Amino acid sequence: MRAAVLTEPGAPLAVVDLEDPTPTAGEVLLQVDACGICGSDLHAADVLPLPGLVMGHELCGTVVDVGPGVEGWAPDDRAAVLSLATCGTCAACLTGRVRKCATAQMVGIERPGGYAELTTMPARDLHRLPDAVDARLGALVEPLAVALHTVQRAEIGIGDNALVLGGGPIGAAVALWLRQAGAHEVIVSDPVAHRRELSLAVGATAVIDPVAEDVASAAAARCGGAPPKHVIECVGLPGLIQHAADVAPVDGIVTVAGVCMAPDQVVPFTMMAKELDVRFAFYYTRPEFDAVIDLLARGRVDVEPLVTDEIGLDQLPDTFEALKRPSEQCKVLITP
Ligand SMILES: [Zn+2]
Ligand SMILES: [Zn+2]
Repeated sequence: MRAAVLTEPGAPLAVVDLEDPTPTAGEVLLQVDACGICGSDLHAADVLPLPGLVMGHELCGTVVDVGPGVEGWAPDDRAAVLSLATCGTCAACLTGRVRKCATAQMVGIERPGGYAELTTMPARDLHRLPDAVDARLGALVEPLAVALHTVQRAEIGIGDNALVLGGGPIGAAVALWLRQAGAHEVIVSDPVAHRRELSLAVGATAVIDPVAEDVASAAAARCGGAPPKHVIECVGLPGLIQHAADVAPVDGIVTVAGVCMAPDQVVPFTMMAKELDVRFAFYYTRPEFDAVIDLLARGRVDVEPLVTDEIGLDQLPDTFEALKRPSEQCKVLITP
């Protein structure tokens, strides 16, 4: 099979021929129908020494073969996959809190992922896709589940106002779910004009250019003068948690979803003086993953604007490098 692999940290991906994977007991062999490029892949590729790894954890595919002991799955079945290969037996797995499984392996980091024509996954981590959810939508299930979990962690109340920092795929999807969850004003701050337009297209009620405007006063102005109670950080670069604390109101709630793997500095007193409630969101639960598939299947959310490009494996190395710099793109899908 053809696959794009990491070579060394910071170097472009290389498209190579690899031996086709074989499903072991309990696993399914999938043809990858679509796989999204995630911002966390862009960060990880520059810092993690993982030579030869096939990245990609936002994928859906069609079953080609099943390993020994797999029941309920057959060739031609379509599925979105969790971005975690779980143990299936621990307390966290049995209650759907998959990220809290102590032995879960991250797909595309700790085991091969979807930047390839084929991949294997434990059958238990496949979620069936109805016909109404095509491959483009199927590859969006994972990032949409991350965004939904972020909104759950924020504990949005009906009529609450929220400021979202970052209008990339997660920030825009957080804006979408905030509106679905009953938020009143949902304001997205992003320096890229096209990302502000995308955020408005999927549910934001207003947008801010943080280069041109003071974010805190611009957000308050759009909420009738009072600053929004919630600030949701969806960028993941050093300085953003402090920025969130700076723009949050007294007694505000800051929810951090941006994945930042670099050392960062904060002034704790900013958070203390405002008695901020700062919380983090990571991954999603299995019921949240299913809820996304169900809402997509029933046409309850329009996420098409989030997909700004579809490419083949050959274009992946160049596109991946280009996405490391600020761009007009939101979600780019690989259709190997
Ligand atoms: Zn992702
Ligand atoms: Zn487990």
